[in-house]
Amino acid sequence: MTEMNEENEICETCPLKGSCPDQGSEEAVTCMADEIDGIKHKIIVASGKGGVGKSTVSVNLARALQLEGYKVGILDADITGPNIPKLLGIEDQGLVQGADGIKPADAGGIKVASMALVLSRQDSPVVWRGPMKMAAIKQFIQDVTWGGLDYLIIDLPPGTSDEPLSVAQLIPDLSGAIIVTTPQEVALLDTRKAVNMVRAMKLPVIGIIENMAGLACPHCHQRIDIFQSGGGERMAEEMNVRFLGSIPIDPRICSLGDAGQTFVEGEAPAADSFRLIVERLENILR
Ligand code: ADP
Repeated sequence: MTEMNEENEICETCPLKGSCPDQGSEEAVTCMADEIDGIKHKIIVASGKGGVGKSTVSVNLARALQLEGYKVGILDADITGPNIPKLLGIEDQGLVQGADGIKPADAGGIKVASMALVLSRQDSPVVWRGPMKMAAIKQFIQDVTWGGLDYLIIDLPPGTSDEPLSVAQLIPDLSGAIIVTTPQEVALLDTRKAVNMVRAMKLPVIGIIENMAGLACPHCHQRIDIFQSGGGERMAEEMNVRFLGSIPIDPRICSLGDAGQTFVEGEAPAADSFRLIVERLENILR
């Protein structure tokens, strides 16, 4: 009887309700449980809008944790704009079906699953409808052989529409969400919505990261607040959410990203700020 209730509850809340071939069966109950169960921390990285550096934060967070000796994976849940393989320089890899499931790609020790590794051409648009996108995410969760990871970083689609919400709801036992913003008021407006989206999912907001917070002039070294300053921290306080820290604008972050490399291991103020953020995050999760 308990099993039956559990089964119904899972299928009732699943975004694939109505189109899932396993609906109501035993597989539906265990469908998400196998691979993902052995992962200690599952963290979503979300943002109120695109272009604020969400994917940059995801890959650098994964790299920082991996460099500390943790086993780390990234699930690129942005099905229509999957950029993680590009940022990690692994666009030429693919996802291979092995005997036990789908083998994730490898970015110098970070396990990666992304729609970009399935598409034959990097510039092909993904024009799938909602249920197909959800089925792809479901397969990444269910069939990818993640192994016993310490951290799975899930790069959500940007914004606060139905899509990021449905994706996040597909993943069981999330540890919480990190929300990335930039300091200007238009971005903060959308970030407030992202905080409320996470709260509506009854998930803890681990904290807010403010990206692109000021630029150090390469000549006089004075800080220029291109997108204003301090907005992320004020907003975090206002919404009673932890502020994890800010990352300055650094043109090297962009050029390294374009070259498929992370910046966190480098010697720069932005890398120092980022390492401090990761330290705070580890303390919180501990
Ligand atoms: P999102 O995932 O939010 O759409 P991305 O992570 O793809 O954003 O970042 C958008 C662009 O901004 C990328 O080219 C990235 O390299 C660049 N970028 C991100 N953060 C910074 C920063 N702090 N300084 C300079 N460029 C940055």
